[in-house]
Amino acid sequence: MSIQTGFTVRQCLDALQNGQVTSVQLVQAYLDRITTLEPQVQAFITLIAEQALTLAQAADTLRTDTKDTQSLPPLLGLPIAIKDVLTLANVRCTCGSRILVDFVPPHTATAVQRLVDAGVIIIGKTNMDEFAMGSSTENSAFHTTHNPWDLTRVPGGSSGGSAAAVAARFIPAALGSDTGGSVRQPASFCGISGLKPTYGRISRYGLVAYGSSLDTVGAFAQTVEDISLFFPHMAGLDEHDATSMDVPVPSVQLDGNTSLNGLRVGVPNEYFIEGMQPAVEKAVREAIAHLEKLGAQIVPVSLPHTKYALPVYYLIAPAEASANLARYEGVRFGYSADASNLLEMFKQSRGTGFGSEVKRRIMLGTYALSAGYYDAYYGQAQKVRTLIKRDFENAFRNVDVIATPVAPSTAFRIGEHSNDPLAMYLEDVFTLPINLAGVPALALPCGFDEEQLPIGMQLIGPHFKEDLLFRVGHAYQLTTEWHKQAPEL
Ligand code: GLN
Repeated sequence: MSIQTGFTVRQCLDALQNGQVTSVQLVQAYLDRITTLEPQVQAFITLIAEQALTLAQAADTLRTDTKDTQSLPPLLGLPIAIKDVLTLANVRCTCGSRILVDFVPPHTATAVQRLVDAGVIIIGKTNMDEFAMGSSTENSAFHTTHNPWDLTRVPGGSSGGSAAAVAARFIPAALGSDTGGSVRQPASFCGISGLKPTYGRISRYGLVAYGSSLDTVGAFAQTVEDISLFFPHMAGLDEHDATSMDVPVPSVQLDGNTSLNGLRVGVPNEYFIEGMQPAVEKAVREAIAHLEKLGAQIVPVSLPHTKYALPVYYLIAPAEASANLARYEGVRFGYSADASNLLEMFKQSRGTGFGSEVKRRIMLGTYALSAGYYDAYYGQAQKVRTLIKRDFENAFRNVDVIATPVAPSTAFRIGEHSNDPLAMYLEDVFTLPINLAGVPALALPCGFDEEQLPIGMQLIGPHFKEDLLFRVGHAYQLTTEWHKQAPEL
């Protein structure tokens, strides 16, 4: 019997169910691979190997002791990793920040708890840009994660650790968070599949807040089908998050049907812009042509306010962040500086606890919210946000899904954008509008550039239509091989 760390979620679940592997063997195989290759990739902040093995043992015992296999938790024994912005009780949660380096939360995020209830085993917490602010993981207070396809390049961000871990086959699936692209862009850079759900679909309880009106809990795996297998278990109303919605979560049954007959796919001109990498445009246009071959009808659509999404996002997200991050003052959470008086203590705790990008966002946000500027900046941004949202509502009157690139380029070199925040922010031009509109989107591999770096396509759907995105993405993956390529490490 061989244990394959290259297993998809589907293969892991099948192997566990038919007795080909035990959960202990599976967890151990992943931990062994991590031990060997983590020094090159550096995807994790915290590994909880012993706890994972103990829980895997319990899962195996439950499976052997249960006669009625139908009654077993559906994901029993499946190992996953979670981004270090989601809480797991009694395991430190750093958010990639020095200010939370010793913070051990007493609670578990709802999305994580629901997966644990469904049987998953958490093996560790992955690296990220500090407080999810960034597109490369270079803003982590601890270390930069390396892209498994080319170790001199970034894995994307801010959920770069989760994406790199799945791409490196350290784990079959991982959770991330997506406020402006932090699941989709790293999924694209690492050649894997990633879901940003509808805002309100998955509880944000236990997801440490960045921009509360934009934050979502997202997921990574090798395939779209894999994500569809565990997504329903995380979703749904939660009394701990007032913005979570009571919309039924369809249980997604994907089959071998690859026909997209009758599907209308919108292609917005605004997402093919001057300056984008030609190989990205080519691969995405070919992917769209492939959808047409499967029976879809391609329809040009317009999202005319797209060009305002970047400035709008960089007002709203920092404004919300400046309010959310006010709680780290050195008293109730995390790092507390040793100072002679209270004001000094606040200043020093925040001054040394936060990294420079976080400070930049706090200053931007505080300015945008300050008296005399509020209407001109934050107020205006909210109005334009409504226009962006309407663009999508109008487009979805004519089409079922919208197909675009995920990012204008493939993975850039570590350090390439370090001194140019604007270049870094531009990485998210195609992903930010989706968060502003609150709609769901899927990133999936659709090619490689000249340097063998993965390219991603983005499929955007109307609110709460994740199941449609899964169906289209699955049909694409059943008839293409891009998602099967793995980096050599
Ligand atoms: N890169 C974007 C930012 O820095 C988005 C991050 C995210 O989605 N968390 O804000």
